[in-house]
Amino acid sequence: MSPQPVDSLKGFAVTFRQLFRKPITQQYPEEKRAVYPRFRGRHRLWLHENGLEKCVGCSLCAAACPADCIRVVAAENTSDNRVSAGERYARIYEINMSRCIFCGYCELACPFDAITLGNEFEISEYSRDDLIYTKDMLLAEPLKKVPVASAEEFDTPIPYYKAHS
Ligand code: SF4
Ligand code: SF4
Repeated sequence: MSPQPVDSLKGFAVTFRQLFRKPITQQYPEEKRAVYPRFRGRHRLWLHENGLEKCVGCSLCAAACPADCIRVVAAENTSDNRVSAGERYARIYEINMSRCIFCGYCELACPFDAITLGNEFEISEYSRDDLIYTKDMLLAEPLKKVPVASAEEFDTPIPYYKAHS
């Protein structure tokens, strides 16, 4: 076993080496680390190019949801009030984000790609009521509050499939 002063010097050497390395600290929330492309974050509902909603209120997403956090109430489209491209539309579409486990089953179950999970992860709120996202909230563009760091600053390893595709 080496004498204690030698161990201390070895410890100082480790600290000293760090002085010449680039810091990896990021100034969150001003700088945000880019997430992996397949990261599942905040949901989004989508429209067709003609402005009609893709969601037809079929509730397949709600049936697939293991956390039982999607509520869909459908209504019939009429000639005076056409909301979606199908026979019916979602009069009410809500997701309780406080229960969601971001598994992505709703996205997989949807036959019309009406709902997807995006990359936004800043969805914390002070009240649980504010975590119930309504249809209007889900149709809206997510708010980007601060700049997102460029992918070059992404210092975690590039996924294998991405580096080799
Ligand atoms: S991501 Fe999973 S838990 Fe969340 S709403 Fe979709 S199916 Fe439900
Ligand atoms: S989001 Fe898709 S699966 Fe869910 S109710 Fe709308 S059309 Fe059906």
